[in-house]
Amino acid sequence: MSTQRTARPLHARPHASPSPRPVPVTVAYGDGIGPEIMTATLRILEAAGASIDPQVIEIGEQVYRRGLSAGIDDSAWRSLEETRVFLKAPITTPQGGGYKSLNVTARKTLGLYANVRPCRAFAPFVATKHPQLDVVVVRENEEDTYGGIEHRQTPEVTQCLKLITRPGCERIARYAFAWARANGRRKVTCMTKDNIMKLTDGLFRKVAEEVAKEYPDIEYEHMIIDIGAARLADTPERFDVVLMPNLYGDIVSDVVAQIAGSVGLAGSANIGTECAMFEAIHGSAPDIAGRDAANPSGLLNAAVMMLRHIGQADVAVRVENAWLRTLEDGIHTRDVYVEGQSTTLAGTAAFADAIIERLGQAPQRLAPAREAAAPLDLGHAAAAPARRPEKALVGVDLFLDWDEAGRDPEQLAERLQGIMADGLKLTMITNRGTKVWPQGHSATFRTDHWRCRFVPRDDQPMTAAQIGNAMLRLAYAGIDVVKSENLYTFDGVKGYSLGQGE
Ligand code: NAD
Repeated sequence: MSTQRTARPLHARPHASPSPRPVPVTVAYGDGIGPEIMTATLRILEAAGASIDPQVIEIGEQVYRRGLSAGIDDSAWRSLEETRVFLKAPITTPQGGGYKSLNVTARKTLGLYANVRPCRAFAPFVATKHPQLDVVVVRENEEDTYGGIEHRQTPEVTQCLKLITRPGCERIARYAFAWARANGRRKVTCMTKDNIMKLTDGLFRKVAEEVAKEYPDIEYEHMIIDIGAARLADTPERFDVVLMPNLYGDIVSDVVAQIAGSVGLAGSANIGTECAMFEAIHGSAPDIAGRDAANPSGLLNAAVMMLRHIGQADVAVRVENAWLRTLEDGIHTRDVYVEGQSTTLAGTAAFADAIIERLGQAPQRLAPAREAAAPLDLGHAAAAPARRPEKALVGVDLFLDWDEAGRDPEQLAERLQGIMADGLKLTMITNRGTKVWPQGHSATFRTDHWRCRFVPRDDQPMTAAQIGNAMLRLAYAGIDVVKSENLYTFDGVKGYSLGQGE
């Protein structure tokens, strides 16, 4: 599909208020339990009076089987181009190489940078150890390791690139704070692993802290992801909005949904400046597909978010209240059913019927749906272009596939120094990031993948030609250079990490 779109921000959509014409929405029934939960969801929306015009597209397994490795074809992209609103059931990503995750492709192609996953407990009607849980995970949706840029570099070593950008961090951090403010939330907790990944996660944290200063009315804190995730699983009631890079957000939001009651309950909104996609947070659950056993609530809650997004908040409130009342009445699908506590074990279709019967009713004990929830598209995407810092080339890391001389780093260093005699100066060799030369430790495990750091001799300015020359010398010497990374400073600050033990 053409990715050229006219810039028409969502918050200026023509159908931002209730429209007399049904709003076209692209709908995909997906794989596994997808068709069952989508059928249930659309039946409820129709009964509630949603004014939508579903345009059904085919994505996922059937498209992969037709030989399209992205799982989506041009006609589907065209529909999305037109409607720019996507209600999507889960799909199955085939295992193995040669297939790309359609979910990731859709999020990235459509520029859906913010993933909003509200998770709430429905105690005492849905069993949970955390009755006060009310957490919104705001997950960065396009970057991190989800670029899927992976390489096998040596017989023993594979690599995945983790890309974190300043504009990406800025817009997700702004989105989290703006969303918190618009929704009356009091705190944003950012979680990263910046004690280890000082440049990538460090940037995410730094930008979050910069943006936090623009929102003095919102409390801000940072936690290292390991203890943060542990606390979230233990005492989720102390959290409010949680801001995370892509991978951690993906994992942690499933944990939060599950401890709220079931991974089958939570919906998510994927928001960009021009498009939005709404889906359940769970996958296609092939283990229960075709058995009328799936909980449609995750997709239904996503559809409720979609209704608010397209200006049909009144219908959203009707659906959400009827759903809450159904939970209160103890009508539960298998994933949340508790003998003696639930009143009826319902299949997917019967659960949808029960919701339809309750349209127009409100919950009696659970907090009802908010009439005036803030929109999801907050128009906060654009990050101000920053001044480009002074960038200086100061060295190069050359990564080698080397499996000779018993993998003795002393011998590798001697060989490299011989090859480079009058060229660049070798300063360090690491193996899996840990320094093994000079003065390595005999206990350090060594694989066939070596990072060799070179700098110019005598503090001379470095040139790209010197790097090319060094790689040529190594190639002529029969040494396999599998990758090179230039070392830069930015306004005099190192743009690369030290070796562990350096
Ligand atoms: P899953 O979320 O599909 O299932 C995990 C467990 O939760 C299973 O036991 C399942 O039965 C249960 N479960 C999930 N949704 C449920 C529901 N609505 N009602 C009741 N129980 C439910 O995760 P998985 O098994 O790891 O993945 C299956 C497939 O889904 C994989 O191919 C994966 O790539 C894909 N997936 C797709 C998406 C998406 O489309 N957005 C997201 C995650 C995983």
